[in-house]
Amino acid sequence: RKEFQSDTVLVTGATAGFGRAIAHKFHAAGAKVIAVGRRADRLDALKQELGARLMPLALDVADTAAIAREMEQLPADFRDITLLVNNAGFGTDRGAAQDAALADWDDMVNVNIRGLLHMTHHALPGMLARGRGQIINIGSVAGRAVGPTNAVYSATKSFVLQFTKALKTDLIGTPVRASYIAPGAAETEFSLVRWQGDEARAAKAYAGYQPLTAEDIAEAVFFAAAMPAHVDVTELELMPHQQGFGPRIFARD
Ligand code: NDP
Repeated sequence: RKEFQSDTVLVTGATAGFGRAIAHKFHAAGAKVIAVGRRADRLDALKQELGARLMPLALDVADTAAIAREMEQLPADFRDITLLVNNAGFGTDRGAAQDAALADWDDMVNVNIRGLLHMTHHALPGMLARGRGQIINIGSVAGRAVGPTNAVYSATKSFVLQFTKALKTDLIGTPVRASYIAPGAAETEFSLVRWQGDEARAAKAYAGYQPLTAEDIAEAVFFAAAMPAHVDVTELELMPHQQGFGPRIFARD
């Protein structure tokens, strides 16, 4: 299907990158969209751009009490969420695991795992009661691949992969679907966040090849959502053409 007029789509991390592109994509297909992120000014700008069918929801998904409160208080015309896209996340391993700051590990776990779990927990009962719904979780190629200086980020995305597949399995007796989408390198604010606003360093992540765009990922999310109700897109991996699998790593003498 191409029309989403009867849908309400909640996207976390809608102030930048994939989430903003996903919000635009579903809004253009006729859905009501709840855009979640911490930066209220960007949510307001999105509201200005998209108008009545866009509900800005300033929320830190690491704040589980705030998630519970906000999900409980959704206005009547945005309450019936048909699609939850758990997209908010980041990777802030900035070196080897043995050199990491414990706070960075906590931050990744709190957003990439706990935030996703709490959003899912609060969205599911309504979907089950209404007999309609889908949860699309954004993982990463790092959820399967082991690479250097990425320990906790890749572990959080492995969690998302396994959780999504287990959730899909538990939901087979219900009309609610769950999908996992694993992007490779995409040019967003992801590297800027990783390198704490250092633009030159962030740009190096995308030098010399054509990375994926946020719109590429929005297409993949849309594909998973647009499949007929009897089809689960269980796992979808996307990479830039110029990205390959697996690093060759040796600590040579
Ligand atoms: P961006 O940094 O461009 O966007 C991340 C979004 O997440 C922002 O909207 C940010 O909003 C939001 N976010 C971060 N922390 C929180 C929080 N505590 N509460 C609510 N929202 C939050 O990155 P991408 O678009 O690239 O990343 C989106 C997802 O895709 C992430 O899960 C990332 O791990 C994953 N991914 C990215 C890849 C890439 O190469 N770019 C590759 C594979 C996966 P705000 O700061 O306003 O809260």
